[in-house]
Amino acid sequence: MQKYTNFKSLNCIFAYKLRRMEQFLKELPNLAKEKYDESKKYFAKLKKRTPKNLDLVMQDLHDEEFEKTDCLTCGNCCKTTSPIFTEKDIERISKHLKMKVVNFISQYLERDSDDFYVLKTAPCSFLDLKDNTCFIYNVRPKACSEYPHTNRRKFIQITNLTLKNTEICPATYNIVEALKKKLPVK
Ligand code: SF4
Ligand code: SF4
Repeated sequence: MQKYTNFKSLNCIFAYKLRRMEQFLKELPNLAKEKYDESKKYFAKLKKRTPKNLDLVMQDLHDEEFEKTDCLTCGNCCKTTSPIFTEKDIERISKHLKMKVVNFISQYLERDSDDFYVLKTAPCSFLDLKDNTCFIYNVRPKACSEYPHTNRRKFIQITNLTLKNTEICPATYNIVEALKKKLPVK
């Protein structure tokens, strides 16, 4: 019975987190838009005088954020954008799916304007929309495993991408807002 109660309360907590995330995702485009100019100016100044400890600060903020944010309540990156599929990704995933590379490409991928392979459709064909899990999680593209890149080395090089990601990824939005408080610029 105790086990049942714990399981039930865990389900309630997850349902509560899910509802909160749904609400956040509805508000995110406007929130990101409101903060866009401020964040753009912030990153421009940060680029001129980049603190030596920026990557360490980002790593901490990233870890703190993902202790709170459960991607399984969200899945917005997988629903709205495509990762880049490298040759290695394509070979690994095709092998996992027991498909010929050529068939995998023709079924799932197309070239974007920069000639990278990306998904033909959104949401991603490998996303289970019932629970936001990934059917190919263990072999997923490197870009997926590294998304949203907020703990990347030399973070200062990807501030434009990060700014774009604040419109899609609630965790990125929170991390950028926390960064502005942690490392204010004049
Ligand atoms: S491959 Fe998996 S992790 Fe990557 S976008 Fe698709 S569902 Fe998401
Ligand atoms: S990485 Fe961001 S957008 Fe993707 S599922 Fe996690 S919180 Fe959502």
